[in-house]
Amino acid sequence: MTGSEATTSEVGASQSLTIAIDGPAASGKSTIGGLLAERLGYLYLDTGAMYRAVTWVALERGLDIDDEEALSALARSLEIEITRPGVKDGRQYTVLADGEDVTWEIRRPDVDRYVSPVSACAGVRRALTGQQCRIAQRGRVLMVGRDIGTVVIPDADLKIYLDASPEVRARRRYLQLVERGKEADYERILSNVVRRDRIDSQREVAPLKAAEDAIVVDTDNLSISEVLDVVEQLIAETITDAAKKTGA
Ligand code: C5P
Repeated sequence: MTGSEATTSEVGASQSLTIAIDGPAASGKSTIGGLLAERLGYLYLDTGAMYRAVTWVALERGLDIDDEEALSALARSLEIEITRPGVKDGRQYTVLADGEDVTWEIRRPDVDRYVSPVSACAGVRRALTGQQCRIAQRGRVLMVGRDIGTVVIPDADLKIYLDASPEVRARRRYLQLVERGKEADYERILSNVVRRDRIDSQREVAPLKAAEDAIVVDTDNLSISEVLDVVEQLIAETITDAAKKTGA
C-alpha cells in the first residue's frame, strides 16, 4: 500500500461497503476474511458456518440427508446466531443453533462429510440465503462463502475469489489441525476437499464459481500473510474509490 492511499482501518470505518469473498474448501477465506473484517470494524459472516449448523442439527436429529422437505423445514425453523467469540479457545466466532453452542461440533468429520449434500438442497439454500441477504443490506459487512458474489450480494462493492489447488488446500487444512493438536490424515482431507469441491461446483442451485466481476486470487504459491496483503490492497483500492465517489 502506498502512503497516499487510504488504509483499510482509516477510511474503511467511514464507508458502508459490502465485501464478498468466495472460494472452494480450505482456500483461506475464513482466516483472511476474519482478520480483515476485524481491521475494518465490519461484521464478519462466515456463511459456511450456517450450512454446517443446519447439517449438524440434521445429523443430531437423525434426519434423512436425502429428505429435502425435512432439511428445508429445519433450515427455515432453526435459529442460527453467529456472535463474537466470548470464549477464548481459539474460535473465530461463536455459533449458536437454537441457543446451543455448536462452534466446535460443526467442525466434526461427519459434518464435513454431509455438509455439501445438505447445502445442495434448494430449500436449505433459500432459507439461509434469505437471512444472509438481510444481513448484507445493513452494509459494513464482509461475507465469505461459495455464492456470495454470485447470489447473496451480486452488487457487492468488492468480490474476491480465492483459489488454490486441492493439494495445497488439503495441506493447509492438515497443518491447521496438527497445530490445534487434532488427529489429521492428509489423504482423507484431500479426498474430502475434492469431493466437496465437486458437489459444490456441480449442484444446480448457486454452484461454487467466481462471479464474472470477481477478482480471482490464485493462492497456490502465497503464504497466508501474502494473501492477506493482496486482499488488503484490493480492499484499500475499493475504499479509496468509494471515498472519492462519496467525497468522504
Ligand atoms: O466454508 P466451509 O468449508 O465451512 O463450508 C462448508 C460447506 O458449506 C461447503 O462445502 C458448501 O457445501 C457449503 N456452503 C455453501 N454456500 C456457502 C457457504 C458454504 O454451499 N455460501
